[in-house]
Amino acid sequence: MSFHNLDLNSALLRVVKRAGYTEPTPIQVRAIPHILKGRDIIGCAHTGSGKTAAFALPIVQMLDPVSGRRRIRALVLAPTRELAAQIDEEFGKFCRDTPLRHVAIFGGVGQQPQVDALRRGVDIVVATPGRLQDLMNQGYIRLDHVEFFVLDEADRMLDMGFINDVKRIIKRLPRVRQTMLFSATIPPAVQDLSKSILTEPIKVEANPQASTVESIAQSIYFVESGDKRALLKHILRDPASERVLVFTRTKHRANNLAKQLNRARIPAEAIHGNKSQTARTNALSRFKSGRTAVLVATDIAARGLDIESVSHVINFDLPNIPESYVHRIGRTARAGASGIAYSFCDVDERKYLRDIESLIRQPISVVGEHPFVSTVKPPQRTMAEGNASNGKRGRRGRRSRVNRRSRVSQHRAS
Ligand code: AMP
Repeated sequence: MSFHNLDLNSALLRVVKRAGYTEPTPIQVRAIPHILKGRDIIGCAHTGSGKTAAFALPIVQMLDPVSGRRRIRALVLAPTRELAAQIDEEFGKFCRDTPLRHVAIFGGVGQQPQVDALRRGVDIVVATPGRLQDLMNQGYIRLDHVEFFVLDEADRMLDMGFINDVKRIIKRLPRVRQTMLFSATIPPAVQDLSKSILTEPIKVEANPQASTVESIAQSIYFVESGDKRALLKHILRDPASERVLVFTRTKHRANNLAKQLNRARIPAEAIHGNKSQTARTNALSRFKSGRTAVLVATDIAARGLDIESVSHVINFDLPNIPESYVHRIGRTARAGASGIAYSFCDVDERKYLRDIESLIRQPISVVGEHPFVSTVKPPQRTMAEGNASNGKRGRRGRRSRVNRRSRVSQHRAS
């Protein structure tokens, strides 16, 4: 499949070529023709699937240049500042040869440059819900000429508690518009929201299992929680660990870990929601340029980060939400490249591992030999047993899950 088959105009075909995209990703193949026909869309796709271009290219094509006063005609809502900045950057690439103007609106930075850009007039706004509402309330933004509305990462938007903000913003949009909702997962809350904001939508999917997870070499290290740091340092000493994204469960753990690594002369920085926008942007650019080898992040901070060629993703802590595992490891398999993902798992995290394996429907192989192998006897692993042998979860699997639960609780009781 080529971009030439997607009804994009010659200017955008040139833009795509210049961006180095040789062929469209599955979500682009599936979404672009429907969007260009004016259809509402539910796109089930992860960051890393090329979903931004899937909506941004057709929007840029459909926005006719207007003479006279500019009004906001396309609005993209994103859950985090970083993601909003990245989407805006993608629009920047695609709008370069057009008269269209775009701006990113997000908090954590002064509002004046954003207000100035709005005063000069913009066609496309990419925003996080909080700052957008601030500026709407101050009278700098009107949404009554929006023709294209994109709700990006709807699942995360709801997880982060933005549902009422999103609803308030949607109330200010014209009823007649084209709406595109993108989400990595479609839980019932997203389903409900989609029913209330989309009209006869077409569902398009880029299956994450096939496109992302399968191309990543994943392994589990069973390790006691007190040995995780030493194990991480051991792995980071390998010269193959060039650019490593490490995930921790909390901001506090991210900060501490970055400090510890620096003490061990491993250049590392933490990135999380408590850091100022400038600090986050700077940390990110040092990581992108290779000055910092290790970026320690929490899920929210890393959401949507567009970092090319991460050599490894290391889950220092396993996420308790299994979908986050897929989001995290997706950072090491951007647009078709393959990657390596290691996960540390202590005895208390084994329940998370079980949930992750059932979500991705495959067992993750265990690194049997490393200097910090947990002395706590690992319980039998159901998915590994069941799936590795016959690809199904059978009665044996169910029985051993029960056994494992009792063994883990025995261990805790002792
Ligand atoms: P996204 O899922 O939109 O965050 O995109 C992930 C990354 O893939 C970004 O760096 C895009 O610039 C890049 N990308 C998007 N579409 C393509 C494509 N067709 N070929 C190669 N890279 C792409």
